[in-house]
Amino acid sequence: MEEACCYRSFKNNIVNCRLCTHYCFLKEGERGFCKVRINVKGKLYNTIYEKLSSFSTDYIEKTPLYHFYPNHRFITVGSFGCNLKCAFCLTWSITQVEPEEFRAEYIKADKIVEASKQLKCRGVVYTHSEPTLNIEYYAKIMELAKGNGLLNVFATNGLISPEGLKTICEYIDAVALTVKGNQEFYSKVCGFKFNNTHLLRLIDIFKSKNTHLELVYVIIPGFNDDEKNLSEAIHLSKKADSPLILLRFFPSYKMDKIDSPSEKIMEKALNLAYSKGLKYVYLENIFSHPGKNTYCEKCKKLLIRREGYGIVEWHLEGNKCPRCGTIIPIRGYPYFDS
Ligand code: SF4
Repeated sequence: MEEACCYRSFKNNIVNCRLCTHYCFLKEGERGFCKVRINVKGKLYNTIYEKLSSFSTDYIEKTPLYHFYPNHRFITVGSFGCNLKCAFCLTWSITQVEPEEFRAEYIKADKIVEASKQLKCRGVVYTHSEPTLNIEYYAKIMELAKGNGLLNVFATNGLISPEGLKTICEYIDAVALTVKGNQEFYSKVCGFKFNNTHLLRLIDIFKSKNTHLELVYVIIPGFNDDEKNLSEAIHLSKKADSPLILLRFFPSYKMDKIDSPSEKIMEKALNLAYSKGLKYVYLENIFSHPGKNTYCEKCKKLLIRREGYGIVEWHLEGNKCPRCGTIIPIRGYPYFDS
């Protein structure tokens, strides 16, 4: 265990965790909503420090990020816990448990950075569980990674508080921010009445730091594929001036009897997002579909064709459309095996 950052102490050994928008008040012996932060004798501790549930290499498109160092491989790490209780969580076996229930590896920050360099990865992606909850550990990896010329990618649900974000903001190069739906959807399906105005604040912070940002939205038929819900993600994406990636839901956890959305439902969402003025919208969790490709926002020329998590055609000249010269907002050059 490691003493946590971002908390305040009160009399009678009560602590107030300030790391995420739950702002839990905890008596001695109590854990937060996330289950990973605990009050021991008036001090707050992170119980998952240096503890990982997974460690692998993946293409950045799997995060998903489509406009950031395309086709590069990154070390991907996951830990435990979440500050939401989404009924459709794909990784519920690591997010909805007490970390002690799970046997895991303890890995020092320098080992992650070393592995990233040895495996010729472009950086580290913090994902699978909510990375905010292991911020003390991840901040260490991020600092070391930065010092070694590597990139840090934060895949988050955005419940991190401004105070929490401040501790890692300078190290983060890119963010995949998942929006779930409107406030009613968060209450009914994610176990917490969350208001997306908080995400607007975060978007402003990321923009002021010039952090690369893409929004992600999981489409669940009959739950959040309607215009009211989708409009939340479209609105935020517009504010962020970022691509929006629409992920096809797969049956999982408490929603394992719900079918995946049809291509028609996915295409309807894609068309809605374009009709509202978004420039780059993508369909994901579909192996091959025109909606996975990048087209020039001005002349509509096909610029990047994707299949699975890979790139099969690349027609950009530098960062420009070869037909009309429009600059396409993609950071970093793609990586192709020679
Ligand atoms: S991280 Fe969030 S959920 Fe966990 S204890 Fe702190 S405020 Fe509560």
